[in-house]
Amino acid sequence: MGLPTTIAIDGPAGSGKSTLGALLAEAMDYLYFDTGVMYRAVTLAALNEDLAMDDEDAVGDLSQRIRIDVQPPSMDDGRDYDVLLDGKDVTWDIRSEVVNKYVSPVSTYGAVRQAMTEQQRRIAHENKVVMVGRDIGTVVMPDAELKIFLDASIEVRAQRRYQESLDRGGKTDFDSVLKSLKNRDQIDSSRKIAPLRPAEDAVVIISNCLGIQQVLKIALKLVKDV
Ligand code: C5P
Repeated sequence: MGLPTTIAIDGPAGSGKSTLGALLAEAMDYLYFDTGVMYRAVTLAALNEDLAMDDEDAVGDLSQRIRIDVQPPSMDDGRDYDVLLDGKDVTWDIRSEVVNKYVSPVSTYGAVRQAMTEQQRRIAHENKVVMVGRDIGTVVMPDAELKIFLDASIEVRAQRRYQESLDRGGKTDFDSVLKSLKNRDQIDSSRKIAPLRPAEDAVVIISNCLGIQQVLKIALKLVKDV
């Protein structure tokens, strides 16, 4: 068999899946698509419109009306891509604490997931893609030729996120990062629609003791073995 044209990478926050996805896509000259940005953009849009975040109908309705674009980076400030919400650059706004707080509850809403899943499938259909998220191997691209589920202990993941925040000049403390991740993990894993879990045919990689280059090496070997 030739190289897989669709590669799904799933896993919890801080597992390293976005870094792996970006490096793998670069190595293969495939499109890298991080689906988390879409759920983050919906959450930001709802906050900007002052919607009640527990109003599922209103947030679901909004998710069908907004336009989210992900395109090559327009500036050199550490970003891998630009995220546009109705044409406005929200690349860093979607990483704020308040978006972190509400993104998992918003991601449980059926109408939101339906709208995002449709767009993600279209992108996967039109491109050779490395798509990263929570439900790519199970729901968005169940036929993906290679599925990787990347995981690490909660302490290791929180430490990574904490370091990233420090590097960006953030002021959060480790315990808040840990608490926020635990909360998101719990909601993402227990929701009724498209919960976070490895697909039955996914290769699970635990990255506790592995650096990103080691994980990339394993992934590149898996690509060749498909
Ligand atoms: O990957 P990231 O941490 O940016 O994702 C933010 C949130 O978006 C996740 O915690 C999850 O609630 C949601 N998400 C999802 N399905 C995806 C990608 C992200 O539910 N495919």
